[in-house]
Amino acid sequence: MRQKLVIGNWKMHGSLAANAALLEGIKAAPARAKLAVCAPFPYLAQCQTLLSGSQVAWGAQDVSSEARGAFTGEVAASMLGEFGCGYALVGHSERRTYHGETDAVVAAKALRALEFDIVPVVCVGETLAEREAGQTEAVVGRQLQAVLDALSIEQLGRIVLAYEPVWAIGTGKTATSAQAQEVHAALRARVTAKDAGVAARMAILYGGSVKPDNAAELFSMSDIDGGLIGGASLKADDFLAIGNA
Ligand code: PEP
Repeated sequence: MRQKLVIGNWKMHGSLAANAALLEGIKAAPARAKLAVCAPFPYLAQCQTLLSGSQVAWGAQDVSSEARGAFTGEVAASMLGEFGCGYALVGHSERRTYHGETDAVVAAKALRALEFDIVPVVCVGETLAEREAGQTEAVVGRQLQAVLDALSIEQLGRIVLAYEPVWAIGTGKTATSAQAQEVHAALRARVTAKDAGVAARMAILYGGSVKPDNAAELFSMSDIDGGLIGGASLKADDFLAIGNA
């Protein structure tokens, strides 16, 4: 039985005051799922301080594929690891779309995070045009395959996968639980082809307009192990309600 995991992606939102109120709210109540928040880089130290001693983990929204050097604006996994960052999103569709991240770069980022004991949350997902063209499984399969090819079985056992249909992110349109389950099962089957034990243990999260009122149905599906939550992670009550769904 895999424990449910619910990760908030704050995207480029927040302020010191707003984050403090949000984190206090999240810490105040218990959740059935394991919770984590992925904050903008300048606020990671605040998360480290305010979440210390709590059950809530924290992470970054990106990490460099490079170890160090002349990469202005990039943040190295070693820097995140140095102060205890638990997770890093890699390959979020907004990074793939606006920053041209390729499957190979995403795999390199995952490897770099693992090197410093940071759990990479590898995001995959198809656009609406790709879904309508019947290419969903081919697209997410290709995105996942780059990671499967780059990682050893031991490394694969330390990642989290997130299926986020691009057409459902921030749009209010959610995949039905059946649509999401179908893709999650296909993703798990691909991991099974590499290692059945790793596949059985791997958390595969769903992301895309998850809200308190649709989370329970999505999370009841056999291959959906929790959620990656954007908009609804900015309200403590909503985030907690999803964590208890
Ligand atoms: C996301 O940014 O990963 C996401 C799923 O956003 P939202 O929940 O707002 O659709």
